[in-house]
Amino acid sequence: MELGYDYPLYRPPSESNSLIFQVTLGCSFNKCSFCNMYRTKKYSERPWEEVKNEIDVISKLYPLTEKIFLADGDALNLATEKIIQILKYIREKFPNLERISCYAMPKNLLQKSSDELTLLNKEGLNMLYVGIETGHDVLLKKITKGATSQSIIEGCCRAKKSGFTLSCMIILGIGGKKYSVEHIKETARVVSEVSPKFLAALTLILEDGVYEEFMQKFGEPFEHLDDSSILDELEILVNGITPSSSIIFRANHASNVYSIGGNLPEDKDRMISLIRSLKQHPELLKPKVLRRF
Ligand code: SF4
Repeated sequence: MELGYDYPLYRPPSESNSLIFQVTLGCSFNKCSFCNMYRTKKYSERPWEEVKNEIDVISKLYPLTEKIFLADGDALNLATEKIIQILKYIREKFPNLERISCYAMPKNLLQKSSDELTLLNKEGLNMLYVGIETGHDVLLKKITKGATSQSIIEGCCRAKKSGFTLSCMIILGIGGKKYSVEHIKETARVVSEVSPKFLAALTLILEDGVYEEFMQKFGEPFEHLDDSSILDELEILVNGITPSSSIIFRANHASNVYSIGGNLPEDKDRMISLIRSLKQHPELLKPKVLRRF
């Protein structure tokens, strides 16, 4: 649903039918070397009166809305009281609401106490989208993620214990050739420890706006993986994840070489045999011109 947005505007693919309110603009961190999303925006928090007016107007137009996504990059960076004020008002104006969600960084999660997160969850914020990207600490530094594998695990587990549904993202190929093995091994470890309800695997595509910065921050020559090596990473990842609760896994982002999905661990064997057969049939992969990050 379209409002008078401050562009660029992003939301996860699974929020395509959600109403979006921009409660913050940009990303409070804005330093991940692979991410081009908010480079043109300076982080700011929208005044309550503006957000309230928007909710007033839109709730009259779409009173039966069931899903709302709070944009931009990390609405969870707002003070807890401010988020609660927004959540309460949204729930008052949209009686049919089933879900409110937003993006969250590990840093956002650790800045809130368990009590604050529990309160936010009780006030209706049910789902958080967290970019893990990689579980390998060397790479987390090289991509300037502002997180360690331990802070990712701690932040995500705190959110889960507070009642949140987590949807996490990881990026195939982000370690290049040199760090491929460690990237996937450590990512499988972190994902297994977190065991989010949803996991999405994207594939690294460096857009023009961040290509040079990524290479410079990487600090050594970076060799991109070819499609076959990306499928190797995917196979080792799927095989290596040993979750404590079932994960709904998808590698069906626009950046991926092929759309693959299933539940982990239940569909592990099926997904692995599909990945192996794709390696034998590269002609079935998505043409490079159709892939985007
Ligand atoms: S990946 Fe997320 S946290 Fe990092 S710069 Fe982009 S929006 Fe901000």
